[in-house]
Amino acid sequence: MLVWDAVIDVSNVCWSPLLPPHGRRAPVWRRLELVMNAWRELHGGARFELVADDSLARTLDDARGLRRLIGTGELVTRPLADALILELARDRGLHVITRDHYVDHRGDHPWIETAPERFHRWRADGAGVRFEPLGITPSSRQTVSAAREGKDLRRSRLDPRNPLHRRILGTRWTCRNVLCPEAAHWQDQLLVWPRLNRAGDAVCPTCEEPLLGLGPRDPLYEMVVEDRASGGEILRFPLEVGCPVVVGRGSRLKGVNLGVEGTAHPEAVRQVSRRHLLLRMDVDGTNRRLAVTDLGARNGTRVERWDGTALGPPKAVAADRELFLGFKDRLLLGDAVTLRLSGRHYVTHSGMTESYVSSSTNSQSAPTLVRDSEAAE
Ligand SMILES: [Zn+2]
Repeated sequence: MLVWDAVIDVSNVCWSPLLPPHGRRAPVWRRLELVMNAWRELHGGARFELVADDSLARTLDDARGLRRLIGTGELVTRPLADALILELARDRGLHVITRDHYVDHRGDHPWIETAPERFHRWRADGAGVRFEPLGITPSSRQTVSAAREGKDLRRSRLDPRNPLHRRILGTRWTCRNVLCPEAAHWQDQLLVWPRLNRAGDAVCPTCEEPLLGLGPRDPLYEMVVEDRASGGEILRFPLEVGCPVVVGRGSRLKGVNLGVEGTAHPEAVRQVSRRHLLLRMDVDGTNRRLAVTDLGARNGTRVERWDGTALGPPKAVAADRELFLGFKDRLLLGDAVTLRLSGRHYVTHSGMTESYVSSSTNSQSAPTLVRDSEAAE
């Protein structure tokens, strides 16, 4: 007799925009119940192991249900849930309910590729939540070409003054290559800017495969990461209203990885924790404000407040407490890397047009920034 007990990747479920409320890219607690009920309907009597990432409680719409299950011992959390999910599945022969292909864990868990039938992903339509095989592919088929990275694509940085580029910047993208770490984010979307290939198509900056467009983005901002000592740029990434992201280091991070291979200023990036902080563009009525939570980073986070003329002295940011930032304030990660909003603010409209405005509240005007980025090539 088949046993249908399963371990559920709870963060992955709650974040999934494929579950109702469809398209919402913030974690929703009710999604877990939908998945559990659907699985039980198929496999009566099945029992679950529930594992979530620590950061889920900080981003959930309502964390009471989560805390209740933690209190009763029915759900456990870990800084990175993946390792425990896979250990439970391996040691107890459980099925795994997830949309993550755990590419970065294939070395530690070779059984994944020999037991693909134990991995199930969800889909929801008018008939409710259904399950289908996740489709585990051997990772040896990965075709990332490290040699092709670098110059070619770096040079094709997207320029917001170019209408074609503006449309690419205003589109939400996803990488469909299941072997690519960019395809494993909870948000089910690319969290960094796409690159352009020679043909002018948007491609994944990590695996270089063509991206799938998901339609216009919500209003979005851009974050700039720099080396504190030299001011040299490390990375820029988009921050969409209502789409919280974890910033840290390492390819297993579900979030924005500052430590990509070949990064500028690697010695500064090494001071950043694997999961350093959580960023969120908060909407309060018509106001938007940037919210940051230090996730217990080893080297800490400090903030420099803009006093109207200059940045003030750095002050420690308490761990695990959300702090709101002014648009000109600057964060210090491990005292080595700075993080700030750029002057770019994109307003996207439904349809094909996106306008581009520079935020008047920021000292950096857009044309200056574009010149800066060209100079940095
Ligand atoms: Zn990719």
